[in-house]
Amino acid sequence: MISFIVHGGAWDIPDDLVEAHRNGVRKALAIGWKILSEGGSAVDAVEKAVNYMEDDPTFDAGRGSFVNAVGEIELDASIMNGTTFRAGAIAAVQNIRYPISLARIIMDKSEHILLAGMGAVRFGREHGILQCKNDELLVGRELERWRQLQSKQKFSTKDAFRKKTPHDTVGAVALDKNGVVVSGTSTGGTPNKYPGRVGDSPLIGCGTYADSSIGGASCTGWGEAIIKVVLAKTVIDMLEHNGGDAVIGAQQSIQRLEKKAEGFGGVIVLNNKGIPAIAYNTPRMARAYRTSEMNSDDVEV
Ligand code: ASP
Repeated sequence: MISFIVHGGAWDIPDDLVEAHRNGVRKALAIGWKILSEGGSAVDAVEKAVNYMEDDPTFDAGRGSFVNAVGEIELDASIMNGTTFRAGAIAAVQNIRYPISLARIIMDKSEHILLAGMGAVRFGREHGILQCKNDELLVGRELERWRQLQSKQKFSTKDAFRKKTPHDTVGAVALDKNGVVVSGTSTGGTPNKYPGRVGDSPLIGCGTYADSSIGGASCTGWGEAIIKVVLAKTVIDMLEHNGGDAVIGAQQSIQRLEKKAEGFGGVIVLNNKGIPAIAYNTPRMARAYRTSEMNSDDVEV
């Protein structure tokens, strides 16, 4: 069994943005699926699929990311290999075109797991990771949103998640032919965030977790709440406690997010057999998946 699942955020995605989200997750799925079905690794499938969504300005990751309170783009990303138990992550990093690729280089080449700010950029430079100007990541839509938010008095992240503010973090989970489960997540965080704010996405166990003997998960939603319930690891624990049932594991985790932390968001999950599951407590979640037992993709927003 090989299996692949991607997401492109969970929120009240308006009707006129549904098609862009559907196309984005469909193409990302196709990229990862091609790698896996040709015998490639789960790490490559996750990295390349997330790279596609980092390039697609529909999503809040790489190009198209939200702008922070002082007009900069700060990126968070992480990736975890559930077999080697190695992980790499970056937090509050600027000027990186493909954040998940920098997280991967840290997983592959560093003795550390999480590098923040200039240190992460420096490590990327030493390992040939593509740097870019802030302007290359900034799109007109987000500049305009930032300008409007500047004129508002107080902005609460929690309110943003209750209202129709976009939350288009991206993520992927793959199971390859060797039984390796890998999860990855990439984001520009939340709109107008305080400089240096780090969400759940780069925190192993919060936004991303993988254990090939149980499964893998990638999360999206209100990061401050997700951190409180350590959502991605909670999903894996719930899976384990429910005999590997991915659907129950995903649903129970989102219930806990809402009950304990009043949080909003969604998770994508694969169990160790490649059975996919999705759970969210927002009106919509953009996602796509395929397993070797299916004849076509399942793409939904
Ligand atoms: N979880 C992300 C964060 O709080 C945002 C999102 O998922 O859209 O940084």
